[in-house]
Amino acid sequence: MEKRELLYEGKAKRVYRTDDPESLIVSYKDDATAFNGLKKGRIAGKGAVNNQMSNRLMRYLEENGVPTHFIAELNERETLVKRVSVIPLEVIVRNIAAGSFSKRYGVEEGVVLDCPTFEFSYKNDALGDPLLNTSHALALNLAAPEELTVIRTLALRVNELLRTFWAGCGITLVDFKLEFGRLRNGSIVLADEISPDTCRLWDSGTQEKLDKDRFRQDLGRVEEAYAEVMRRMTEHDA
Ligand code: UDP
Repeated sequence: MEKRELLYEGKAKRVYRTDDPESLIVSYKDDATAFNGLKKGRIAGKGAVNNQMSNRLMRYLEENGVPTHFIAELNERETLVKRVSVIPLEVIVRNIAAGSFSKRYGVEEGVVLDCPTFEFSYKNDALGDPLLNTSHALALNLAAPEELTVIRTLALRVNELLRTFWAGCGITLVDFKLEFGRLRNGSIVLADEISPDTCRLWDSGTQEKLDKDRFRQDLGRVEEAYAEVMRRMTEHDA
């Protein structure tokens, strides 16, 4: 597949056209941002970790009945994916209180929730990705009712599958963000990435943070955390 012009550059990835109008190449960068772009930095090796980890997880999800945009890993940092129109929703699932949930509801970080929660944010940087409910999503015509039902079912299924996967690596899945897109035929697939940038991952024994919170909160050993999650995933497969 031939790589053509840059279509879009985001905070952590570049997206290129290919000679096939239905396929794109995603290239992962080491750039890191937090707090809606206010904090900027670089995490050496992050692009390679996120690319390979996301692909491994997308393949696992596919094997378990979750449709995704993944086609093939091209190299350490680049992946061929199906072109989708991205639904402008950040779909967040939580098992344990942390981050904006802790702040919003006054729940201490680390409290295990009685059941997983499901929420949407409106994917809109200018507005700071505000929280949004189903009726807002419908009123703004961001997705159809049936699409929102599919997204909810898939997101909760992804949570169960990822919890199991990470448990096998000695890692607790605290929360994560997903994005979905529509293929040309209208069907919904999981898109974007699943990585320590988009998941909170804690060591199951020590509760040590092994994700982007180390960058957000200046906890140090950021590169090491990404490498450690990658190492455990590779070990899991061996
Ligand atoms: N998240 C993300 N991108 C965002 C916002 C959140 O990937 O723009 C992920 C984040 O890494 C965490 C989960 O979604 O795993 C829940 O994040 P939260 O709403 O607590 O927001 P935060 O505290 O990160 O601002």
